[in-house]
Amino acid sequence: MARCAAFKPDGTPCQSIVGTSQTYCYAHDPARASERKRNASKAGRGRGSGEIVGIKALLSELTDRVLGVEGTAPLGTAAAAVASQLINTRLRAIELEKKIKESDEMETRRGEEAYGILLNILEERLPRDAFEEAVRALSDIPSGVIGM
Ligand SMILES: [Zn+2]
Repeated sequence: MARCAAFKPDGTPCQSIVGTSQTYCYAHDPARASERKRNASKAGRGRGSGEIVGIKALLSELTDRVLGVEGTAPLGTAAAAVASQLINTRLRAIELEKKIKESDEMETRRGEEAYGILLNILEERLPRDAFEEAVRALSDIPSGVIGM
């Protein structure tokens, strides 16, 4: 049974089990670095905070306009109230998005744990050939499905 050839940041070997045709697990495969990067940015880390920076800028601009700061286009209080409601709605949407993302990440961790447990059980109970075949079959499942 093959394990990932990489080392963890603490210097101990990575314990992830890999298919016989593979040298590295998903997290350590240099050939999949750009895929990992894409997936990480797809998960949207940092996007919420970028949006909040934009919203703060918008709020400060709206405040200036309501207060009639020189050089800004005046904005009536009614329009400002509507803008404020829309901003609040957007903030709630960002918060909801963040909660959904966090629960997705938790699902992924649970998936990884379950995968590890499954491999241990298979290794214990199956003859070596059958175990290796099972690991190969599992590593053919597209990443994401079992949280790897
Ligand atoms: Zn690894």
